[in-house]
Amino acid sequence: MAAVQSIHDCAVLHNGVKMPWLGLGTWKSAEGAEVERAVRAALDLGYRHVDTAAVYGNERGVGRAVRESGVPREQVFVTTKVWNDAQRAGPAAVKRAFDEALRRLDMDYVDLYLVHWPVKGKYKDAWRALEEIYATGRAKAIGVSNFMVHQLNDLLAVVDVVPMVNQVEFHPRLLQRELLDLCRQNDIIEVAWSPLMRGKVEAIRELRDVAEKYGKTPAQVVLRWDLQHGVATIPKSVRRERLSENAEIFDFALSPQDMATIDSLDRGQRTGPDPDNFTF
Ligand code: NDP
Repeated sequence: MAAVQSIHDCAVLHNGVKMPWLGLGTWKSAEGAEVERAVRAALDLGYRHVDTAAVYGNERGVGRAVRESGVPREQVFVTTKVWNDAQRAGPAAVKRAFDEALRRLDMDYVDLYLVHWPVKGKYKDAWRALEEIYATGRAKAIGVSNFMVHQLNDLLAVVDVVPMVNQVEFHPRLLQRELLDLCRQNDIIEVAWSPLMRGKVEAIRELRDVAEKYGKTPAQVVLRWDLQHGVATIPKSVRRERLSENAEIFDFALSPQDMATIDSLDRGQRTGPDPDNFTF
């Protein structure tokens, strides 16, 4: 894979759709002024990919900020996700949830629609609904989130459309190499959520040491590490200076040794819920 050299560089999904490697996360960015300011600032800094979800409660603000930014809609990659309540209620509810998401976003399509969590006994039906949505052209790509190896294999056995993306927790303490390999084998791009361990990467001494060598911050080094693994990344911030910091990752490359040093920090440690054991 060619090195990612610019904020405009894109992963090419297996259906040919282009997704910028760097996106803006918006979980916990409050609906209204906060999320709108964050999205506007990110677009102003060159970001062209925004990640939201029904459950974040901020799709309206995301949509408004994209519209009012002056950046043409087709130049911004927008992801949203179907929440578990709709998944539990069945495929018709998933399709209704998608229509509602488009209404909240005030958009006539999304670039990527995801099954947010693998609800046991339900995710295959949810996937069928996403395949139907995809066939209408109102989601340019579809994917899953929080699918581990066994759930992904289980789904892959029955799909008509292979998911284009699996968005999962991914950071130096949680590499999930087997999952990454499975995704690669199936042309599924991984997207890293909580790439900065919700701000905790700064506390890891080895990351500070690597960062110092490059004149970068631990956050920048970790985001670069994502890209060099072929993993797209969606750090969240509502502060312009951090949005800018998180985007200054295209002017350096980690050496193979430093990649290995960061890989060695893996402890299989989650900061978020376990996809095998969640209660929401
Ligand atoms: P991140 O790892 O992106 O960390 C975000 C936190 O770190 C915020 O508190 C932010 O604070 C702070 N921060 C941002 N940049 C820096 C920096 N350069 N230095 C220090 N601190 C920083 O965590 P998230 O959990 O938000 O994950 C990213 C995105 O992934 C989410 O926003 C969401 O879009 C998605 N996600 C998806 C999930 C899924 O199930 N599919 C689950 C969880 C997240 P501040 O805003 O104040 O700058």
